[in-house]
Amino acid sequence: MNYLQYYPVDIVNGEGTRCTLFVSGCEHKCKGCYNQKSWSFCSGILFDKAMEDQIIKDLKDTRIRRQGLTLSGGDPLHPKNLNTILSLVKRVKFECPDKDIWVWTGYKLSELSEQQKQILPYIDVIIDGKFIQEQADPSLIWRGSANQVIYRLKDLK
Ligand code: SF4
Repeated sequence: MNYLQYYPVDIVNGEGTRCTLFVSGCEHKCKGCYNQKSWSFCSGILFDKAMEDQIIKDLKDTRIRRQGLTLSGGDPLHPKNLNTILSLVKRVKFECPDKDIWVWTGYKLSELSEQQKQILPYIDVIIDGKFIQEQADPSLIWRGSANQVIYRLKDLK
């Protein structure tokens, strides 16, 4: 898996102060996509063990307390990204159990494959669905268009 950007301190992509990773690769091709550069799986740089270690280190950093980790893209739940993301969220929940994990995906929660659903026990919030330009609304928080839904998975479990 490649990633486009990593922000060790981020206050706009989810609740509280967070670490945020934007992965490369997305096949949803939404009209009006905010970042078409993210569509290519070859964009950005390789997500390696050193980057994973850095995220864990940042989440454990007590000087700036992070509420959790945000995974966005691109699409973290694209089948090509899934194994790496699954391994990352498992490690975060094991080593940083007090941190929450938010995931943005273009897939609908109700339409996730069995393989994609494997991530659900390890994450706290999922914002689902493609960006639909006709339903775009800048007043929405954490969503670009009104069709997208914020699911707090603990409430559903
Ligand atoms: S799901 Fe997100 S990254 Fe993918 S095309 Fe749609 S807006 Fe762009």
